[in-house]
Amino acid sequence: MLRGEDIEGSDMATGWAGEGAVHEQIDATIQDAIARARAGLPQGTGRSRCEDCDAPIPPARRKAVPGVRLCVGCQESRDREQAGAGRGARHRLR
Ligand SMILES: [Zn+2]
Repeated sequence: MLRGEDIEGSDMATGWAGEGAVHEQIDATIQDAIARARAGLPQGTGRSRCEDCDAPIPPARRKAVPGVRLCVGCQESRDREQAGAGRGARHRLR
């Protein structure tokens, strides 16, 4: 009987930990996004100049990309870099 309880207990613990980990990951992603939005990315505006090359970012782009920080050229090259570096890094805008 003790063995039976043991196996059942460990099974439950494993299943629970797995689910918890997934939820934690999702929570962290959402919280990270919220934190970033609060930390200096006003929604709907973004930067007036590119963070990388200091080129002016057109108002239309700032409207189309809320919280934009890079000009089209820099954003594209960065996207390409991050796509090559693998998934998961994509939402990390530094
Ligand atoms: Zn740029």
